Amino acid sequence: MNIPKTSFPRIVIIGGGFAGISLAKKLNNKEVQVVLLDKHNYHTFQPLLYQVSTGGLEPDSIAYPIRKILKDFPNFFFRLAQVKEIKTGDNTLVTNIGNLEYDYLVMATGSTTNYYGNREIQLNSMAMKSIPQSLNLRSLILENFEQALLTDQYHEREALMNFVIVGGGPTGVELAGALAEIKKGILPKDYPDLDTRKVQIHLIQSGDRILKEMSEKASSKAEDFLEGLGVQIWKHTRVTGYDGKTVKTDTDTIFETATLVWAAGVKGAGIRGLDAKDVLARGNRIRVNEFNQVMDHDNIFAVGDVACMQTKDTPRGHPMMAQPAIQQGKNLGENLLRLLDNKPLKPFVYKDKGSMATVGRNKAVVDLKNIKFQGVFAWFVWMFVHLFFLIGFRNRMVVFVNWVYNYIRFDREARLIIRPFNRNYSAFKD
Ligand SMILES: Cc1cc2nc3c(=O)[nH]c(=O)nc-3n(C[C@H](O)[C@H](O)[C@H](O)COP(=O)(O)OP(=O)(O)OC[C@H]3O[C@@H](n4cnc5c(N)ncnc54)[C@H](O)[C@@H]3O)c2cc1C
Repeated sequence: MNIPKTSFPRIVIIGGGFAGISLAKKLNNKEVQVVLLDKHNYHTFQPLLYQVSTGGLEPDSIAYPIRKILKDFPNFFFRLAQVKEIKTGDNTLVTNIGNLEYDYLVMATGSTTNYYGNREIQLNSMAMKSIPQSLNLRSLILENFEQALLTDQYHEREALMNFVIVGGGPTGVELAGALAEIKKGILPKDYPDLDTRKVQIHLIQSGDRILKEMSEKASSKAEDFLEGLGVQIWKHTRVTGYDGKTVKTDTDTIFETATLVWAAGVKGAGIRGLDAKDVLARGNRIRVNEFNQVMDHDNIFAVGDVACMQTKDTPRGHPMMAQPAIQQGKNLGENLLRLLDNKPLKPFVYKDKGSMATVGRNKAVVDLKNIKFQGVFAWFVWMFVHLFFLIGFRNRMVVFVNWVYNYIRFDREARLIIRPFNRNYSAFKD
């Protein structure tokens, strides 16, 4: 990898997400050599992926070059690399661009979509965990409408205009709301020769309420908002299969659709070599102690979504959200420096700053520690917080200008099929 050996200890971070970047910032200008590896050369602001999928934002405005974040950091090296294996015995990583030795290793690899072993759903559904996947979904949504114009088969047209989203967490809720707004504000203008009133958006949730990690008030208000926008919510319904045409559930309900979006779960993005049964907790996350140290590995740490720190207050680990990732990254940065100074480590304490979700224009729900609110003010708070956490001044400005423009013009101009998604429509012909 052409990384020089120095007298400083080498800390290798796998992953330039929220956790990896906040850790890297803490190690800036210290007596360590830091190597950051990521399979992408950019950091992705995942909370706004649904806006890319629905043409509200260009992908460039929610991605930021990792090299630019690290550009003034001395003793820092970035390599575009996919890590394939960790040889813990040799303190070595195996990657697609060669091997690399480490003194300390930090897993900040985040999470991947969890299909719970259902291969059929994995093959035929759309996920929304990365920018390429969001662009695929954007193309597919638009291609479906182009195709709906061409068919003279009633059932095919219905299936093309049916959107089924599985998972009533923030991702599913935000995507459903955005699709409903497109149906209302954009489709009638773009497709005057298509009866876009027939567009249906279904949100399927296995439990008894959507946004189950938030307060009951937030759940019921979000449900009201979505139903007001015309989204059909199916609770107590578990999707069991999708062959690319028919969605099967554990009830009598089935859906015919060309688009199933799977937002029903994530699991830790593990790497071979650190995947023994006793290392992994529920959801493929790596068990760590209160210092984010991986059990039985003194020089290996895990932070963010991939880490499972089971405490009395968090028996299933911390929520797989940006704030725990950022806070763990910061705390680990301080702890690594303490470790090198032979000082005692500081246990991680999560400061829950609350959670929020938007359902659409003027509609959001916010749960803070002492106050919960919904509606227009919540929507402004949601926008402010997301702008604040975006990396890069340019990105903040572009997103802000886009939002103002979209708000005034009731528009989403990035509805472009730049990179077509090759959907096989033949299944709908018969
Ligand atoms: C659609 C969506 C909406 C979300 N909305 C919210 C929200 O509103 N609020 C909120 O708090 N959280 C939200 N989240 C969750 C939040 O984005 C994650 O909790 C957060 O990104 C976790 O940070 P992380 O650093 O652990 O992982 P990530 O940010 O996922 O970063 C992991 C990095 O590791 C890299 N990587 C992985 N494996 C390898 C490998 N083998 N080799 C090299 N590189 C690798 C990846 O390329 C990536 O850059 C959302 C997530 C999604 C998908």
